Amino acid sequence: MVKVGLPAQRQEGSESQRELELTCMSNLLSATGERVYFKDLLSRFLLISAGWIAAYAPGRAANDLIGKTDFDVFSDEHASAALRDEQQIIRTGEPIVGKVELETYGGRTDTWVSTTKMPLRDSRGRIIGTFGISRDVTAQIKAENTLTQQALQLRAQNESLSGLDRLKDEFIGLVSHELRTPLASILGYVEILREEGANRPDTERCAEVIERNAQRLLHLVGDLQLLSQIQSGMMAMEFRRADLADIVAHAVEDLRPAANRKHIDLTLSVTAIPVISVDPTRIAQLLANLLSNAVKFTPDGGRVEVRLGTEGGQVVLAVADTGVGIPAADQDQIFERFYRTAIVRRQEIQGTGLGLTITKAIVAAHNGTIAVESGEDRGSTFTVRLPLLRVPPPSIPRS
Ligand code: ADP
Repeated sequence: MVKVGLPAQRQEGSESQRELELTCMSNLLSATGERVYFKDLLSRFLLISAGWIAAYAPGRAANDLIGKTDFDVFSDEHASAALRDEQQIIRTGEPIVGKVELETYGGRTDTWVSTTKMPLRDSRGRIIGTFGISRDVTAQIKAENTLTQQALQLRAQNESLSGLDRLKDEFIGLVSHELRTPLASILGYVEILREEGANRPDTERCAEVIERNAQRLLHLVGDLQLLSQIQSGMMAMEFRRADLADIVAHAVEDLRPAANRKHIDLTLSVTAIPVISVDPTRIAQLLANLLSNAVKFTPDGGRVEVRLGTEGGQVVLAVADTGVGIPAADQDQIFERFYRTAIVRRQEIQGTGLGLTITKAIVAAHNGTIAVESGEDRGSTFTVRLPLLRVPPPSIPRS
């Protein structure tokens, strides 16, 4: 063992006292699992503990390492950083306490250690080197990282829950409004009919308004029911061979009166597509949602274009409008339930924020995709792609 002078007060003791201290030191260094080292002014090892050898130079003898430096054990990068610390301690006399460092080794897992490095002084207090002790804190750092990770996840979950909560509150307000408006209209027209009797010349128009509002209510209740089915993963589907071009043409005609009321130019272009297996009711619902949005969010005199065709083994349905558009930041969220952009809320355009959630679920049930291309005041194009799985024609039995 290389001898090192001990502090003054210790030297005042007897020879046997010094021997006892060296024995204690020797026992400590050979028994402790802590990584302890003593180095001279040139950062060459004077003494090292068994724990240090086990951690950094397993299998090597302590004597073999005395006089060597970190450059004989660690990577150049690691050894240079340690040398810089030691030079600083020697220059300033200031210790480095509890520094947490990542130690990287070739072929071994990286380790986090907490290190304290101090100046090594002789009996007169002069700095003659450095010494340090480091402890493996990998498990602690990993536990802390896991905790931080979990805290972040919890915070994200919390934020999304409170966001959902806020949306639900808004939704309850919206639904109440959406229920009250048609109900008030129905009650108003029933009263007119009752007061003025069936002889009134525009009875037919009153009945139409009542019917339209009752349909609106039915539609809303249907959407709510479907949403709860989607949420519980229980949306019922009935696939059968259907002519998509026909379904699209009907959906466009259903929307034409609403488009005409706003002087919107509603056009349809279809290229020949094969009969495919879909749920026709759900597809009609999907079209009604996309088309009614296009008409609803396009100002008077605008254009709505519906295109149906095939592309690369898929049916492609595009609904393009020249309406208010959707800012890029909203485009992912519009498919989330209850979500409505600030633009449409500001303009007080009616809606519940359910249509696109339902549309997306219908597209997914057909193994398809839906995408939107838009920008504020740039109009919007919704594109639905469905796999073009040809349904084989029914086989004719041979006689
Ligand atoms: P709703 O139409 O009842 O508000 P949707 O789920 O159908 O609900 O749509 C969600 C939101 O996406 C709308 O409120 C609107 O902000 C935006 N959006 C959907 N389609 C369009 C469109 N064609 N043009 C502009 N914004 C749209």
